[in-house]
Amino acid sequence: MTGGGAGRMTVAAVVTRGAPFALVEAEIPEPGPGEIRVAVKAAGICHTDLAFRDLELGTPLPMVLGHEGAGIVDQVGPGVEGVRPGDRVALSYDSCGLCPVCREGAPQYCEEFGLRNIAGLGPDMAPRLRLAGGGPLFASFFGQSSFAPLAITRPRNTVRIPAGLPFHLAAPLGCGMQTGAGAILNTLGGRPGQSLAVLGAGAVGLAAVMAARVAGMDPIVAVDRVPARLDLARALGATHGFLSGDGLAAELAAIRPGFDAVLDTTGVPALIELGIAALATRGTMLVLGISPPGAQAAFALSGFLGGKRIQGLIEGDADPQAFVPKLAALHLEGRFPHDRLVGTFPFAEINRAAHAMESGETVKPVLLFGD
Ligand SMILES: [Zn+2]
Ligand SMILES: [Zn+2]
Repeated sequence: MTGGGAGRMTVAAVVTRGAPFALVEAEIPEPGPGEIRVAVKAAGICHTDLAFRDLELGTPLPMVLGHEGAGIVDQVGPGVEGVRPGDRVALSYDSCGLCPVCREGAPQYCEEFGLRNIAGLGPDMAPRLRLAGGGPLFASFFGQSSFAPLAITRPRNTVRIPAGLPFHLAAPLGCGMQTGAGAILNTLGGRPGQSLAVLGAGAVGLAAVMAARVAGMDPIVAVDRVPARLDLARALGATHGFLSGDGLAAELAAIRPGFDAVLDTTGVPALIELGIAALATRGTMLVLGISPPGAQAAFALSGFLGGKRIQGLIEGDADPQAFVPKLAALHLEGRFPHDRLVGTFPFAEINRAAHAMESGETVKPVLLFGD
């Protein structure tokens, strides 16, 4: 199936909104100009995949999701530089590299972000895959659609990885780990001795905890509904773990009268409001959780002039070409132990893996593709 030519493969597609992933036969072309074809070896599942599986968020159906892929370059199209067949790579979000925002060094806010990552279309505005029985199969999700043994990617979202990093640990770097760690290391610029509270100890929140430890922040407070998540957060560098609930504001205040930074990964308005209220002078509230459409949060103006800020962000404000290798290096140095979050599943068991994430049994499920 690899090594050139059009290919036929079994992919996991969303055929019916809200239904489990369906394994269907699909056809994939050779990579076109500026495109890369990657033999996917591992793909993480992120909450964003399940949101796009279940909710009407503007993506067409049937569509192949998956946006934390890692694998081996199978073939490169005309004009591709920087990667060659056989290279080991991790996949991340795509950006154009040409718009004013990309040129300012903020590709995560690229003017073509929606087109390249959400719309399901290739550069010619047509889907890149076809159902084997005929008909379009939308793909190019986050410039990849890696719930498939082969994915069409582009140079800007295809990142070479070190030889020592296994694919199942490379895969989650491209979204979840990048998002949480980047919020601390890029957006906030976390410094030694700064205080931090992380609301939600899922994959993104735990990545933030690990990055905060790298940055020397202290104390690092993790908050979650699940006691086992707090144990894991402590093992990864959190100094305190609190259950979310009525006593939370008082527990935070007992640690620090105000926090230099609070990071919300939950998107729950009441928690975001609590986080803003817990800020110290010059404190920063980082908001990156997904909230339901129309959700609002309020905050007290009293005290807000004390240099406080509320900052939203996506993808850890990271350029994957720089940040994925940085996280890989930290992992190989033993300073970013995200292997503690990962549980692996055979690709064919994608629905069991998704359920394990929803139930909280596995923080970061990663699908493995056999040969
Ligand atoms: Zn751009
Ligand atoms: Zn994601």
